[in-house]
Amino acid sequence: MSLAHGRPYLAIPGPSVIPDRVLRAMHRGSPNIYEGPLIEMVASLWPDLRMVAGTTGHVAMYIGNGHGGWEAANANLFNRGDKALVLAVGQFGLSWANSAQGMGIEVEVLDFGKSSPADMNRVEAALRADTGHRIKAVLTTHVDTASSIKTDITALRAAMDAAGHPALLAVDCIASLGCDEFHMDDWGVDVMVAACQKGLMTPPGLAFIWFSEEARRRCGTTDLATPYWAWGPRAEPVDFWQHWDGTAPTNHLYALREALDMIREEGLPNVWRRHQALARTVWAAFDAWAAGNPQIGLNVASPADRGWSVTAARLGAPHATRLREWCEAKAGVTLGIGLGMAQATDPAYHGFLRVGHMGHVNAHMTLGALAVMEAGMAALDIPHGDGALAAAARVVAESA
Ligand SMILES: *Cc1c(COP(=O)(O)O)cnc(C)c1O
Repeated sequence: MSLAHGRPYLAIPGPSVIPDRVLRAMHRGSPNIYEGPLIEMVASLWPDLRMVAGTTGHVAMYIGNGHGGWEAANANLFNRGDKALVLAVGQFGLSWANSAQGMGIEVEVLDFGKSSPADMNRVEAALRADTGHRIKAVLTTHVDTASSIKTDITALRAAMDAAGHPALLAVDCIASLGCDEFHMDDWGVDVMVAACQKGLMTPPGLAFIWFSEEARRRCGTTDLATPYWAWGPRAEPVDFWQHWDGTAPTNHLYALREALDMIREEGLPNVWRRHQALARTVWAAFDAWAAGNPQIGLNVASPADRGWSVTAARLGAPHATRLREWCEAKAGVTLGIGLGMAQATDPAYHGFLRVGHMGHVNAHMTLGALAVMEAGMAALDIPHGDGALAAAARVVAESA
């Protein structure tokens, strides 16, 4: 028998759950893209996009996903042959490095593995070694969605300043925007990349670049910034269409407006606190399960190094895949695959999974997903410690 019939829950780290309000907002016929309500509505988006990023800087929007956002950042930051220093703490840092390399940018990767945070002493040393200042920008994820490791952006900025290096700082906030505390201006970030389908609760299709005045002065006229990717006209268009270098993503824009309204209504600091509390709920359950089975564990040892929007964990192969399949087929909960922890052809691959808790997620969804996982472990005879649900409930009780 299956108990999956009912509203399914996609608990993967993006795309995230789309609120009914957002779906309803985009359910409309094509608006006039030359004059009228759409143009007025879009004017209201930019201040809110600056608010969620914590910046008074510039914003450019692209029709694209996160990979498009990476290319947009790369294109405006670098000329072909310029050098990037990329911090990798999981698959997404490595993928941004590949994106840059594929565009003809010289890439130096500082790879910290899949379970440890970036070591800022190594970053500082790499910058000090670059005596000719060939490194134009440092690229990093805020939260790497594959490993769920969070990078301490203020510590990174401090390491760059300590090295006395003029490189710009570019941060991928695709998995963290609207989930994890972030202050672009206060933390000294020059360029920030995000997309709409995670914390912004909007169907995939929009990518964003925020850039500081310093970045605007030093970048944007590179030989990689072809007319479609150049951020200048998008951020400061003469005509409305230049925001997207063509037709506006009309219905997505209405969806985004509604999602930003929801964030404003809750209050961004409260959105962050909700994500932190739900993340701690998931961690508490895993700690209890792990106490009864050494193969179970969270990927990241220290809570300070864990993102608030996604949790990567191990269950021992092949139990992670078995559990994911059970939860989806029997209970309507889809968990995330383990990404970049092992090749899909390697039996070890089936030992990893991720729980997404980003965007439109509340306590009953998170507790429900954890309870379903516990039921799955019981049904599949996966050994696990007791008390996980009580521990998770306690975190909710103490946070709410
Ligand atoms: C999801 C994600 C990406 C990739 O976004 P796509 O929309 O899949 O291209 C990049 N970086 C991070 C940190 C992400 O979470």
